[in-house]
Amino acid sequence: MSQKFQFVYFDLDDTLLNHRRAERHALLDLSRRLWDGKSESYVSRLRDSYHARNRELWHAYADGEIDRLTLQELRIRHLIDEFNIRDTTWQDLDKYYMAQYAVHWQEVDGARAAFEAVAERVKVGLITNGFADVQHAKLERFPVFRQKSSAVVISEEVGVLKPDRRLFERAEEMAGVSGDAILYVGDSYRSDVLGAVAAGWVAAWFSEDREREMPERSFAFSDWSELLVRI
Ligand SMILES: [Mg+2]
Repeated sequence: MSQKFQFVYFDLDDTLLNHRRAERHALLDLSRRLWDGKSESYVSRLRDSYHARNRELWHAYADGEIDRLTLQELRIRHLIDEFNIRDTTWQDLDKYYMAQYAVHWQEVDGARAAFEAVAERVKVGLITNGFADVQHAKLERFPVFRQKSSAVVISEEVGVLKPDRRLFERAEEMAGVSGDAILYVGDSYRSDVLGAVAAGWVAAWFSEDREREMPERSFAFSDWSELLVRI
């Protein structure tokens, strides 16, 4: 595939910034706070339980069945019930978890240099499914991503989440170019690759997985240099 892109959008979490690592460390901190001295036996149970419930709740949030506050409340209440946690409130645990999550934010290796190299060649932007205040705080911590971006599209501000076509349409309007000249770079097959391709864009999947069949107008890469040769 050889194509001249006029705009390149990037996903934020687990593409430019390492969300999963920050989440993992924040849950470790939470289990240390709850079970000081015997936290190790709880860590993996806490993580598994949190992930399973959080995934279900994000699907319900994406489908418009629950709002953001309900999502945050229920994922913590689930832990309180399952682990019989006493003498605290869900708000207190949520605040602690979100604060620790922020402590552990880091860039994905090589992502910033690649992002800057792409921004030298073509206009760039961001599309992310996270909560608006959290994602804005990330962009304040890592300002280069906002400074170089011509458009920043946050699902909570638009009212729909990837892979909803409307989010890509909004992003296309903001880019001011036709969808077939836009490349979208992201780590989620469902949200990023299928969402972008369905919107008529080209998708670059940031993944080690080479088994999965890629749709037309998409490709996979795992090393940033492989992306740069395409742009
Ligand atoms: Mg992502």
